[in-house]
Amino acid sequence: MDGVTGLDVHTLGMIGLAVGIAIALSFSLLSLVLRGMAALHVWAAAFWLLTFAGAAQGYDENGSFLSVIIGSVLIALANAAMLVGIAMHLGHPLRWRVPAAVVAVFLLIQVVFMAWPPSQPVESAVFGLKSILWDSWMVFLLLFRAPRELRAGSRFTAMVFVVDSLFYVARGLIALHPELDSPELASLLTTSNYLFGILATFLLSTGFTLMLSQRLVHDLRQAAEVDGLTGLLNRTALLKAANPVLLANRGHSHAVLLFDLDHFKAVNDRWGHAGGDAVLQHFARLLRDGGVPARALLSRYGGEEFMLLAPCTSPNVAVTLAESLRALVERSPALYAGEPIAFTTSVGVATGTGVHIQRLIDTADAALYQAKRTGRDRVEAMVSEGASEETSPLAEAAAGLAT
Ligand code: GH3
Ligand code: MG
Ligand code: MG
Repeated sequence: MDGVTGLDVHTLGMIGLAVGIAIALSFSLLSLVLRGMAALHVWAAAFWLLTFAGAAQGYDENGSFLSVIIGSVLIALANAAMLVGIAMHLGHPLRWRVPAAVVAVFLLIQVVFMAWPPSQPVESAVFGLKSILWDSWMVFLLLFRAPRELRAGSRFTAMVFVVDSLFYVARGLIALHPELDSPELASLLTTSNYLFGILATFLLSTGFTLMLSQRLVHDLRQAAEVDGLTGLLNRTALLKAANPVLLANRGHSHAVLLFDLDHFKAVNDRWGHAGGDAVLQHFARLLRDGGVPARALLSRYGGEEFMLLAPCTSPNVAVTLAESLRALVERSPALYAGEPIAFTTSVGVATGTGVHIQRLIDTADAALYQAKRTGRDRVEAMVSEGASEETSPLAEAAAGLAT
């Protein structure tokens, strides 16, 4: 029985094993459900390796071949798997070769220690350095390689690895001071080793779960709100985002620019659907990089229709913007299979102080229809106040600019 905590090593070992199995099992089950998450499989394997390592080391406290070699190799493999899983999850995959080489070096050191046992402080220091190396490698990836959407989970996980490293530093410092050596301290260290191991494994599983949840939420949101072909917001996302923006800027004039590519069916007929897709992607890039105001919302509204909501934009500025984008498209053919595909767009502009996006869109649609009817590759503008959808003097200004 341990004098300090009242917990004997055997009980702690059993608790550790149970916790390890529970975590490894839950990650394995989760990986069966979330099949697309490659890192999850690797982390599940890492937790099984950690659990087996704990079992191998707990099996024989006296440092036999089984506990020392197998145990530490399993721990090194678990660390390598965690590292590879993290790199994979963060979108910076590592080659297995690199961590495998580190595992091989550690194995070699372990064999050397078996043949020529080092002093206790040297062994502790090497063991601590090993853990700190893995921890720092993972902390580096988590803090400096995590994409924005995974930052919170990554920071939490990094914090667990930092605390883990600090624990080894503290242990190493104690080991380097033999004057502190006492049976009570040795027993406390063994107990705290187990307790800390259990806690750290549990916190790590929480960190990885957080990272997985963040990835899931981000991917789902992305699938629901972002158009897969162009990377722009889709119609649903734009409509959702628009009204709060209009409400927050109540009383200002807002503009909606509706673009419809001209004779797009002919582009598909001539270049095939893939050629048409390349034009749509190119068009989206042109709009995105073509001087769209910072606060504007840009979306793929439907097939080859795109919409730009520019809040707090006067009618004149809106028409000038529409005209400059139309002209940009006209002089910027898409490249497909090494050949240029020239294309044009018609633009319907609606401006108004109303706070209902649908009214602005309906007006822009009417203006777009007008642009198509009057020859395409042109800008038509209408004011969205009231029910009237007659062509305003602005339309004439736009027509003047377009020619
Ligand atoms: P108009 O000048 O009157 O707009 O003529 P149009 O040929 O562009 O006519 P319309 O707008 O009705 O045609 C839209 C075409 O866009 C029909 C559809 O096959 C094509 N399209 C819609 N979505 C996609 C897509 O994702 N990829 C490709 N390649 N084509 C698409
Ligand atoms: Mg269309
Ligand atoms: Mg069209």
